[in-house]
Amino acid sequence: MNLFIISVGNELLSGRTVDTNSNLISKSLAAIGIETTGKLSVPDEKRAIMEAICFARRMADTIIITGGLGPTPDDVTVEAIAEFLGEKLVFHEDVLNRMKEHFDSRRLVMPENNIRQAYLPESAIPIPNSIGTAPGLFIKKDSKRIFAIPGFPSEMEAMLKRFIIPELSDTGELPERFELFSTAQIPESQILATLEKKLSRDSLMRIRFYPSYTGVNLYVPKETATIVRELLSDYIVANSEKKLEQVIGEILRARGQSLSVAESCSGGMLASRIVSVPGSSDYF
Ligand code: AMP
Ligand code: MG
Repeated sequence: MNLFIISVGNELLSGRTVDTNSNLISKSLAAIGIETTGKLSVPDEKRAIMEAICFARRMADTIIITGGLGPTPDDVTVEAIAEFLGEKLVFHEDVLNRMKEHFDSRRLVMPENNIRQAYLPESAIPIPNSIGTAPGLFIKKDSKRIFAIPGFPSEMEAMLKRFIIPELSDTGELPERFELFSTAQIPESQILATLEKKLSRDSLMRIRFYPSYTGVNLYVPKETATIVRELLSDYIVANSEKKLEQVIGEILRARGQSLSVAESCSGGMLASRIVSVPGSSDYF
């Protein structure tokens, strides 16, 4: 199973809003083994959304669209999905009632404009919105899944956690499993040179390298994890995203030891990394 994300909104393209939604979606789904194969940001325009869906369907079997579900005429995601699938929009009384309850509970009268949010493509299942008005939608058609959820980050996140993740965890398809190795004191190129001694080009291509200034994180497929662990045993700090200074702190605490440093050329950088770990005054 793999995923394509479409973020809809003029504000994302003008730079006024940072697309944090797609980032959270990718990260949350990676945690259950679903890989994001691509993402696109498109304006609030029907044509652009339809082109994006067309491309996304070639790249992945599951598509998540965020944004463009509001009540105003510039919110056209639902119409774009319906037109792409050649479906009519149908009225959902239960969705309208839920929206009315949402307004009633705030002692407000629901504006007429919200009624259009109760119209969804024929094959869509509504996803309840526990925070705002716009329902999300889920369509399973021609062995592809399409989810559309609101752009508001809190509404998006609630639907992702309560509906999308349970739905995708339940498909019975086995996700690809990776093991994470956090390394330190070895540059990317030297990691590659070390692994090249024992691993084929194909196996190397499937390892992901995430370098930062403090070390390289490696995501290694289960099949080659044992051999990678052996080859890099001197440099692997942890089997998680833990940093070297966190691991050192844990070792010191477990042994009841403490650490002092005297620095000149590094100007306190070493001490600064050690004390960046909460609770480091126990051993530093
Ligand atoms: P919409 O559901 O398209 O009406 O979006 C509502 C609001 O959510 C927008 O005005 C933005 O502030 C915010 N928003 C929409 N899309 C995103 C996104 N991809 N990442 C972060 N915030 C977003
Ligand atoms: Mg919008």
